[in-house]
Amino acid sequence: MIRNENPVIANSLWSATAKYTDTYPALSGEQQADVAIIGAGFTGLSAALHLAEAGASVTLIDSQHPGWGASGRNGGQINVGLKDGPTGIRAKFGDHWGERMIRMAGDAGDLVFDLIERHQINCDAKRPGWLRAAHTPKTLQQLHELAEDWDRHGGGMKKLDQAEMQRLTGTEAYNGGVLDRRGGVLHPLNYALGLADAAHRNGVAIYGGTPANHIQTEGGRYRVKTPNGAIMTDKVLMCTNAYSGDLDPKVAKSVLPVRSVQVATPPLSDNIRRSILPEGNALSDARRLLLYFRQDAEGRFLMGGRGTYNDGSTRRQIERLKRVSVELYPQLSDVKWDYAWGGFVALTRDHYPHLHELAPGIYAGLGYNGRGVAIATAMGRVLARWAAGEPTEDLDFPVTPLKPLLLSFARETLVEAEILRLKLLDKLGL
Ligand SMILES: Cc1cc2nc3c(=O)[nH]c(=O)nc-3n(C[C@H](O)[C@H](O)[C@H](O)COP(=O)(O)OP(=O)(O)OC[C@H]3O[C@@H](n4cnc5c(N)ncnc54)[C@H](O)[C@@H]3O)c2cc1C
Repeated sequence: MIRNENPVIANSLWSATAKYTDTYPALSGEQQADVAIIGAGFTGLSAALHLAEAGASVTLIDSQHPGWGASGRNGGQINVGLKDGPTGIRAKFGDHWGERMIRMAGDAGDLVFDLIERHQINCDAKRPGWLRAAHTPKTLQQLHELAEDWDRHGGGMKKLDQAEMQRLTGTEAYNGGVLDRRGGVLHPLNYALGLADAAHRNGVAIYGGTPANHIQTEGGRYRVKTPNGAIMTDKVLMCTNAYSGDLDPKVAKSVLPVRSVQVATPPLSDNIRRSILPEGNALSDARRLLLYFRQDAEGRFLMGGRGTYNDGSTRRQIERLKRVSVELYPQLSDVKWDYAWGGFVALTRDHYPHLHELAPGIYAGLGYNGRGVAIATAMGRVLARWAAGEPTEDLDFPVTPLKPLLLSFARETLVEAEILRLKLLDKLGL
């Protein structure tokens, strides 16, 4: 279980610049609710807000506080889509589900911007687009094929050659790529706290410092037990993603939590700001162990990378992120780095998110594989509709059986081995 804050990954830019100051008390005594939601990241917050807007009574609890998990620590890149393009999704899931998943994943950015506008969330949201950069001719071809695939399904992506990519990034490092106009950037913790504020204003009872310890049936309903209280409810949504603990070990074992780490500079001078991603895009490259970077609203440069598990490799990864930043942008060689932090992303075996029914009326949505700002928000809406009674075949995402991923005792070793394998494939350009 990953509960306690680890000092190696705690120095977050987003916590230091959060604008919402509300605190949510711990639950004490018994609450009644139509739906109890466990976990107040984007998934749980979006589910709570959508349910409250539909008239349900909702109690939302988090063992820490809203946005404490990956939702308040990520890169703030609004990345739409799923692992495969539309053709691949249809081939894997068939026409019925393929159609729905393509729509849900393609429109997930619209949902985020709509929520921000409707609820006046103060989170520096902008929509300059998401750059996906190719580091080899092969990945360039794959990205261009992806853009053509989306063109046949409503569009959204522009193919970029080497010169266009250089103009948009300020570096010659990439062969080209695509600009996904559906993507953008935001301050992730302020987005999470703004969603919590909107949910609260719409009647959701929110409690921080309140872990769900146990769920039991009682008189045809569920009792969600917490240290000093309980929620009596008809439905339960588990929205705990990579931070799923021993509440339901099967859920925790269905994903692989892997650390992703970021570093950030202080606000840069105007000259340097204009020389890096001058149009304000978010960028991630096409490596298996990808790099992702952007500037925040104050002109700090942020660089992130996936793929560590223990503290030693996390420290090395932090130093590597600073080094690759300077390799890409030598003008950063004299800047100091103010922040280094991280959190856990939840990987799944098929690299798709998953939606499960754990027992009648107990649902879980998780496993965003590092692409959860938009997709977790969209999954929260799917969970809300399911909890409100929408039949499973009408949902925007298929319900699949819960399967454990790996034997838990071997996890760390297997993760380290997998990271080494991916590093090698990236190095060989395969
Ligand atoms: C460093 C990093 C960078 C990332 N960058 C991006 C990015 O740029 N773009 C993008 O799209 N995605 C990114 N992601 C992924 C994205 O942040 C996640 O997919 C998304 O936030 C998941 O949201 P969630 O609500 O499902 O889970 P979380 O936000 O992790 O929330 C789960 C919550 O459940 C709570 N919880 C767990 N167990 C219990 C319990 N028993 N009782 C009560 N509460 C409990 C935890 O305290 C936690 O707050 C990144 C992730 C990380 C870590």
